[in-house]
Amino acid sequence: MTAEPVRGGGESGRELVREVLIHGPVARAELGRRLRLSPASLTRLSKPLLDSGLFVEGAVEAAGAVGRPVRPLDVRVDGHRFVGVKLTGDQAFGVLTDLRARTLASVDVDLDGRSPEEVVETLVGLVAVLFASGAGAGAWADVGAGAGASGGGGGVRAAADPSRAGSGVEAGAGAVRGAGVGGGVRAAADPSRTGSGVEAGAGAVGLAGVGVTVGGTVTGQRVVRRAPFLDWREVDLGGMLAARLGLPVVVENDVVALTEAEHWFGLGRGVDDLAVLTIGAGVGYGLVVHGRQVITPDTGLGLGGHVPLDPSGPICPEGHRGCSTAMLSTPSLCAVAAAELGRPVPYDELLALAASGDPAASGVVRTAGRSLGRLVAAVANLGMVGTVVLSGEGVGLVDVPVAAEELRAGLAADRDPEATEVRVLTGDADFAAWARGAAAVAVQSWIASLGA
Ligand SMILES: [Zn+2]
Repeated sequence: MTAEPVRGGGESGRELVREVLIHGPVARAELGRRLRLSPASLTRLSKPLLDSGLFVEGAVEAAGAVGRPVRPLDVRVDGHRFVGVKLTGDQAFGVLTDLRARTLASVDVDLDGRSPEEVVETLVGLVAVLFASGAGAGAWADVGAGAGASGGGGGVRAAADPSRAGSGVEAGAGAVRGAGVGGGVRAAADPSRTGSGVEAGAGAVGLAGVGVTVGGTVTGQRVVRRAPFLDWREVDLGGMLAARLGLPVVVENDVVALTEAEHWFGLGRGVDDLAVLTIGAGVGYGLVVHGRQVITPDTGLGLGGHVPLDPSGPICPEGHRGCSTAMLSTPSLCAVAAAELGRPVPYDELLALAASGDPAASGVVRTAGRSLGRLVAAVANLGMVGTVVLSGEGVGLVDVPVAAEELRAGLAADRDPEATEVRVLTGDADFAAWARGAAAVAVQSWIASLGA
């Protein structure tokens, strides 16, 4: 199920693919300026990419009042498939995506066990289920081909997006839950087009790579040095999984991958300087400066999760009073809410109660919103970025009006009134965002391998 190789034209060619993937459709003049390439060089580098079908030319655009018409360059997003998987301590969340890490199908699976061998087995099964679901999506992708990036993608998504595929059908096999694959495939299946399942899809669109992310430190995009949720140290997950799948596999820290996804394909697409903050089981922080994410030997330790925010706040598991984990992680907020309401309160219920005006819940959410505003201000002040993307499964916090209000107030209080306004962009409170991050690093790794 491997995709056809694409000739990339060396380092300059890979840079060109990267720019078109992030910014496309993009005018040739703009590409030449960004990459410092002459029109002749750009034409020479583009030609094999157009010939191979990785690039497509967009609709003709007039270049100013007197300029001759130009055709912008874009990538053909539905020509390649990727799988991204986020591993937690007890589950694997997987998505099948196109070349811009857009979700075509998703599945989540319970882990039978946490040993590396057991997890690899689970991942092999998950990739197979997702790839099989792509047989339908791939067939449907033909329908949208040539309709432009958003048109084609929209068609595929409507076919296989689990949220639109009707009931969450039990997929049957083992612990694989029907987060859409059963329903998705069935919804997409057109007997005249899909033919014989996986083989039909494999012939149409191959799987180009797999990305897996974990909360923890990863070396060389391959070896999990330490993953506390899985009790792992020095596990060659990338090597083990690649050997089983016969496909390129890239392993990465989950926040690093999510930051890459937001920068290349998400809310921060094309923004050269931005920070990503994630709220969920923990609090994560990623930073992109001059178009590249800042990676250090400490990346993966989650240091942004322990920034002091409120001297009167609760204590985090590492003993810090009022740090970002204590003030914003979903377990900490649920613990505070349980103490306030005198009963266990799941996170979604906490947000719903606050939205409906429950005084105790509103108080908890208001305090969290204020803390988030302070954290956003600290990130913008010290990271010198103008855009902060909020993501993670707990980010629904900022949809609660009292939290949003406090976020703005906390940000304003810690930001110089003369300073540029911080653009705060909020993603979906959707666990699949993490899996899309894993797919994004698989896409990047695939591009890095072009022409190699
Ligand atoms: Zn802490």
